[in-house]
Amino acid sequence: MIIDLHAHTLASDGTDTPAQLVAQADADGLDVVALTDHDTSAGWSEAIDAAERLGVGLLPGIEISCSWKGISVHLLGYLLDPADSALLAELEAARSSRDDRARRIVEKLAVDVPITWAQVEEQVGPGATIGRPHIADALVAADVVPDRTAAFDEYLYTGSPYYASHYAPDPVEAVRLVRAAGGVPVMAHPFAAKRGRLVPDSVIEDMARAGLFALEGDHPDHDAGQRAKAISLATDLGLFVTGSSDYHGSGKPWRLAACTTDPDVLEALLAEPTHRGIVRP
Ligand code: AMP
Ligand code: ZN
Ligand code: FE
Ligand code: FE
Repeated sequence: MIIDLHAHTLASDGTDTPAQLVAQADADGLDVVALTDHDTSAGWSEAIDAAERLGVGLLPGIEISCSWKGISVHLLGYLLDPADSALLAELEAARSSRDDRARRIVEKLAVDVPITWAQVEEQVGPGATIGRPHIADALVAADVVPDRTAAFDEYLYTGSPYYASHYAPDPVEAVRLVRAAGGVPVMAHPFAAKRGRLVPDSVIEDMARAGLFALEGDHPDHDAGQRAKAISLATDLGLFVTGSSDYHGSGKPWRLAACTTDPDVLEALLAEPTHRGIVRP
């Protein structure tokens, strides 16, 4: 069984349509893929249709942008009710703040670099959650940088003079929201220090007490030590460990199933109470 529980599409900052993601999972021999766009379930229905047509297992999910004292935390939520009103309100607040924040970043960049808001808008899929990768794509299209990685390294990294933050819910509250919406919460890339500052373990303990299911251990942004740390903290807190590629299509170098989840862990996840089920292959 090949199981990858974290992938993005054009509904956020990936480069495949939801149907293309499912077709890619099929072509690459995956048994199960999870669709986890940032702060939106907009890709679900297209992906579900494709999964039913192609016989690929699909876990509909989202990746919720959270913030603890200014430190970014990403929470994956699987099989939740996308119409849950408390959850929707938080997602809507984050998405609308992401819009303002992207404009602020572009305003700061435009002082030094030939870039306009219109050029960024061209890179965003219809109704998609906007993020820094879209600004990176506009910088690539304008020949300022060769690729997304260079755009992040030079201009868009967290803490850059061009950086701006957006509203995001508290991670412990987000765990409660996901559970209340019938979903299964998993903390994404908890020790990916290359992305920016990390929350103290005490926050992860609070998330565990609030109903966290697992830590994402095997992730392309984790080195061997960070993967070991995830296993050790998960063991201490009685949490499972997942593995996922965080696939973004051509937006990042790694492919689907670059990291994978153990079938026993998926089985345990599916035994949790959920609002909706996996699309079975
Ligand atoms: P944002 O959500 O707007 O703060 O942007 C964060 C997104 O940018 C996440 O999806 C990251 O995976 C992505 N990202 C972060 N660093 C890089 C990088 N060096 N190259 C490409 N994408 C990146
Ligand atoms: Zn992303
Ligand atoms: Fe993430
Ligand atoms: Fe992600």
